[in-house]
Amino acid sequence: MQTIEQALNRLGHSKFRSSFKLTKKDKEYLEEKGIDVVRSHAFDFVSTRIAPANPVNDGRQTPMHGHPVFKAMHATACCCRGCLEKWYRVPKNRELTESEQERIVNLLMAWISKNTEKGAF
Ligand SMILES: [Zn+2]
Repeated sequence: MQTIEQALNRLGHSKFRSSFKLTKKDKEYLEEKGIDVVRSHAFDFVSTRIAPANPVNDGRQTPMHGHPVFKAMHATACCCRGCLEKWYRVPKNRELTESEQERIVNLLMAWISKNTEKGAF
């Protein structure tokens, strides 16, 4: 099982994944909402868009911007079940377990804090 640090490292080698950056607006949003609220948004997005056995519009369910967590989902290859299967060998056509969802949220939040100037904002 890979650690968050290993996953972030591997993602860093992908030109596409490492092209996602937080904008000033994203950072302001993070600052304004705080880590706990953003983390609860991450849980919402993961449980509704990624966790079902057959997510609606899989492959296109995650917008490219509009919320820092969406960006984190693309940057960490947690944007759809196709990417989760390819990057983390998570099989499609079954619901994600609670611990898988939690690991995804942890990875998303780790990416976000790595990509904010103040670290763990
Ligand atoms: Zn994807």
